[in-house]
Amino acid sequence: MSADLVIRGGRILTARAEQPFVSAVAVQGDRIVAVGDSVGGHLGSDTRVVDLAGALATPGFIDAHVHPASSGLDKLRCHFDGCTDASSAVRRVFEYATSNPDLTWIIGAGWSQSWFPNGCPSKDLIDAVVSDRPVLIMNTDGHGAWANSAALTRAGVGANTADPTDGRIERLPDGSPQGTLHEGAVRLVESLAPPDTVQELTAGLARGQAELLRYGITGWQDAIVSGSIQEAYLRLADNGKLVGRVVGAMWWDPDRGLEQVDELVERREQSAPGFAPTSVKLMLDGVAENFTAAMLEPYLGDDSTATSNSGIDFIDPPDLGEIVTRLDSEGFQCHFHAIGDRAVRSGLDAVQAARERNGPSTNRHHIAHIQVVHPDDIARFATLDVVANAQPLWACQDEYQTDLTIPFIGKERASWQYPFGSLLRAGSRLAMGSDWGVSTANVMEEIDVAVTRTGESGEPLNPGEALDPIEALTAFTAGSAYVNHAEDGSGSIAVGMLADLAVLDRDPLRDGSFRDATVVSTIVGGKVVYEA
Ligand SMILES: [Zn+2]
Repeated sequence: MSADLVIRGGRILTARAEQPFVSAVAVQGDRIVAVGDSVGGHLGSDTRVVDLAGALATPGFIDAHVHPASSGLDKLRCHFDGCTDASSAVRRVFEYATSNPDLTWIIGAGWSQSWFPNGCPSKDLIDAVVSDRPVLIMNTDGHGAWANSAALTRAGVGANTADPTDGRIERLPDGSPQGTLHEGAVRLVESLAPPDTVQELTAGLARGQAELLRYGITGWQDAIVSGSIQEAYLRLADNGKLVGRVVGAMWWDPDRGLEQVDELVERREQSAPGFAPTSVKLMLDGVAENFTAAMLEPYLGDDSTATSNSGIDFIDPPDLGEIVTRLDSEGFQCHFHAIGDRAVRSGLDAVQAARERNGPSTNRHHIAHIQVVHPDDIARFATLDVVANAQPLWACQDEYQTDLTIPFIGKERASWQYPFGSLLRAGSRLAMGSDWGVSTANVMEEIDVAVTRTGESGEPLNPGEALDPIEALTAFTAGSAYVNHAEDGSGSIAVGMLADLAVLDRDPLRDGSFRDATVVSTIVGGKVVYEA
């Protein structure tokens, strides 16, 4: 029988060690039916032939940590794509408010601190263009927001409002709010805004899915699935519009205890073809740039001596061992957020506690971000069978490193950052993801940093931790498929596998650079779902 689709004329990475490349694949229905020279026998008059013209095709990428619903929704609201400075950002707020006269709140995300003095935009800038309605817009990393006077007044935030324990209100010399809210202070205003509806999140998810498909991503793990995001997945699947193959990580509420496990067990049953909420997201700490990442030793102060702050455990380590042991026994995968070396260790200790009580499991627990990993903990990933879930875009010497991180953790701990090479050499499994919308969803940019350890400029960050390109591509395909328990169908190329593929515009393994490479088409289950 002839194939529906044949891809040839270049190389196809298999992400399988025994035969890293094949010259062609033939697809029939949703499966790969032949690879290499035997593809010729599957050509028929109806076969669509894609000529790679020397370019590379890969298994569809699988993003092991991404937030498509909220990030897609951000793109449908007031967003700042294409803006480069304060005046273009203000113009965007004005245009969005004017074209949405019925919205009672103007909500948005994506401004950059670098556009404003001291990284803090003033409420006056928005007041000049929108004064009749509250405006609240998150910055690009989600750790701060820009509000207008109407929003601050609505929330009762004034000169006499105390800072919350986990945040700070930026103030004018007279103590009145300046317009920028940091961390937990955002919630003072946000809690009054209308919550995202399932309808909005469903539209956001569809937009987010389109963004992922554009980058060749055919499957992912959604790193925070709330009840309403779960509803959105089920709706999208019901409408026949869920294209990607998704595992959902349901949010563990750190303010509640083990009593929430029963709810998670119930919610796990609410699945759909293409969506399985079988993972649980446990947030263990914050981020290094604002000193909330949990560190084994204290942060350094301006004079390079130790402060009294070593960050925050979002879940107490003794409780964490109990929680992970219980989740593991219920068959859940634990998906940890861990940035600091104490948080990484807490995650490993908790899995160790679960292993000691429950024995080995096939739940495939994974620790995402793994920014600072103490050398003593590197080998424990393999020993405990914990997958290292890397967000490689951050592993470069950008201003977050030079200005906001390295001075406050010192040289030694800076050298322990993003130890992807060491983890692989120690036998750990490696998966990869973007953390979009904190970062771009562009896999090529991420692979580029994984390989070069440099951003657009600057010295490499810990170049000994660089991966070779095939290791990086394999982590982003087969590695993440393992995390999603999907490796029998996707993440690599062989006869019988699902036909999930990304076709690039070039062969970056030959020309040596991923930075400018783009995806020209994305195929899921044999269907072309994106074409440049
Ligand atoms: Zn995330």
